[in-house]
Amino acid sequence: MTTAKATIHNFNAGPSILPQEVFEAASAAVLNFNNTGLSILEIGHRTELFESVMEEARNLVKELMQLNADQEVLFLHGGATTQFMQVPMNLLNENSTAAYTETGTWADKAIKEAKLFGNVSIAGSSKETNFTSIPKNLNVNSDAAYLHITTNETIAGTQWKNIPCDCGVPLVADMSSDILSRQLDFSRFDIIYAGAQKNMGAAGVNLVVVNKNILGKVNRTIPTILDYRNHIKEGSMLNTPPVFAVYVVLLTLRWLKKQGGVAAIETLNNQKAGLLYNTIDQYPVFHGTVAKEDRSYMNAVFVMENKDLEKEFLGICKENGMIGVKGHRSVGGFRISLYNALPLSSVQVLTDLMIDFAKRKG
Ligand SMILES: *Cc1c(COP(=O)(O)O)cnc(C)c1O
Repeated sequence: MTTAKATIHNFNAGPSILPQEVFEAASAAVLNFNNTGLSILEIGHRTELFESVMEEARNLVKELMQLNADQEVLFLHGGATTQFMQVPMNLLNENSTAAYTETGTWADKAIKEAKLFGNVSIAGSSKETNFTSIPKNLNVNSDAAYLHITTNETIAGTQWKNIPCDCGVPLVADMSSDILSRQLDFSRFDIIYAGAQKNMGAAGVNLVVVNKNILGKVNRTIPTILDYRNHIKEGSMLNTPPVFAVYVVLLTLRWLKKQGGVAAIETLNNQKAGLLYNTIDQYPVFHGTVAKEDRSYMNAVFVMENKDLEKEFLGICKENGMIGVKGHRSVGGFRISLYNALPLSSVQVLTDLMIDFAKRKG
């Protein structure tokens, strides 16, 4: 059953690799969930069976992220893109201003949606470096409704290593592509959101962590389904949740806990990124596009000066079972995604190919 995958190395940016045991358990649950004789796809979401899935997933998030008592864990529909508008709808008054960091494609999309609800001030931007760095000195007004950051820019390949200091305003983060990949003080954040399909499960569900104390302060009428308070009250069961996607998140969280949690996976992620970036830096045929201190440990981006060589190396990758290595069309070159479930061995196979290639072309 697993042999077909043995020769594949999945560097997809999202949806992306998940642990093999998650695929197996998810498949089994489609046929016979917890030995009930029922499929996970045909049980009511308000049954005890599913309530316990939701409850365990929620508790594992709290445990793995070491959240505080004011932080509520929600599983919502609509992808991270829905959060681009749901955050300002719940937090930003029409005459108020929210501070946003401008770090790339994803931050830009968040900024665009926030402007539909109020004013946006740019607290820091890396636009002038073509988003190859993270802004260093932020300018956040003390009366800003909140500060929004994108902790990992999946396309540009940048990542905030140091979360901005306490600016005295609520802190909101899009963590779609580095959630649960490294140790952070998650309890500092007032809202964290992440589409599950990069690092914690199947597409179709968002994790949203929200500090309940920051809600209820805007004066607009919020549609029922978009008001975080309603989801908190109903335990993410305001309407039918994406049942299967939540179950896959639960399986992935169980797997992560078994690996030793966030600290252990961070060690592995550092090894993978270290190996890849060392290889890029060692051989001049490869050129890392991002400022070294701001390089993403989840999405590594590099190019080659010679586009013919890029094409040749892409072909070599393909022959060797490397999936998803081609760079995003807006950046070109290569993008290697190194999410939690990617084994170190896949990076070893890739870097061996890179070294061999560099020595031949060097
Ligand atoms: C993928 C991604 C998104 C968009 O997620 P959807 O679930 O497709 O809406 C948003 N932000 C970041 C950082 C991403 O990587």
